[in-house]
Amino acid sequence: MAQQGARFLRKEEVAGSNPVDSTMSNLLGDVSRILFPTYCLICGKETHGELVCEECLREVKRTKGLRCVKCDLPLKSAPKDGMCKRCKRRKWSFSYNRSYGTYSGTLKKLLIELKYHDHPRLAVLFSSYLIKLIMDSDLNLNKSIITFVPLSNRAKRNRGYNQTYLMAREISKRLGIPCYSVLKFRRQPLEQINLSEEERLENMKDIFTVDKNYIVDVIGKNVILIDDVFTTGATVEGCSRALKTYGAQRVCSFTVARSKWQGNKR
Ligand SMILES: [Zn+2]
Ligand SMILES: [Zn+2]
Repeated sequence: MAQQGARFLRKEEVAGSNPVDSTMSNLLGDVSRILFPTYCLICGKETHGELVCEECLREVKRTKGLRCVKCDLPLKSAPKDGMCKRCKRRKWSFSYNRSYGTYSGTLKKLLIELKYHDHPRLAVLFSSYLIKLIMDSDLNLNKSIITFVPLSNRAKRNRGYNQTYLMAREISKRLGIPCYSVLKFRRQPLEQINLSEEERLENMKDIFTVDKNYIVDVIGKNVILIDDVFTTGATVEGCSRALKTYGAQRVCSFTVARSKWQGNKR
């Protein structure tokens, strides 16, 4: 069966503008859909090869309205300096974080599919959201490089692929900005899930370093740091500290979703 599918795809690929070819191509596409039907990951409706149907995609909304200028947390009223209470207290190493949407509803479900249910292809969809954020930012893209949060050994064992790398690679291809695997772990982090906000920040503080092969690519650059979810900012802060230590001019974080959860209270 799998071989037949591959044969159909190749025939479709060689089909050009010749009307006979495109009729053939449509026919083969129909046969392929019958043999290998695909279903929306969210609602289960049949799709034309896509992982998510159009109606479910329309549920993913870009966050609008007042937000903290630093961490992108949605705010009810505008503070004088534009920052939320946490950002006023902290001295972040990164210039700012921008997130496409809120970590809830369909967007949250899709991120869970990407991270825990073996759907690496979703990285392509998320990269298109991140490209919108990058294009709307103040960054000089000619002086920028792209990098991503590395995968811990635990996640490597469980997932087998790094979702942040897949997104970064796609953005790099589409925007023509170089992407380097700059960051690595100095030691493995504790599992974050049961940690409070302060513990998360401490856990991630000095955990990352820059791979010596890439130091030259970081010096004086704007670094576009890609991650999936911004929660307490501990991971982004840990990465930014390492990048700044090795000479990055600025680090700007671009994440798919902003979580309002701020770590377990202790
Ligand atoms: Zn759907
Ligand atoms: Zn903030």
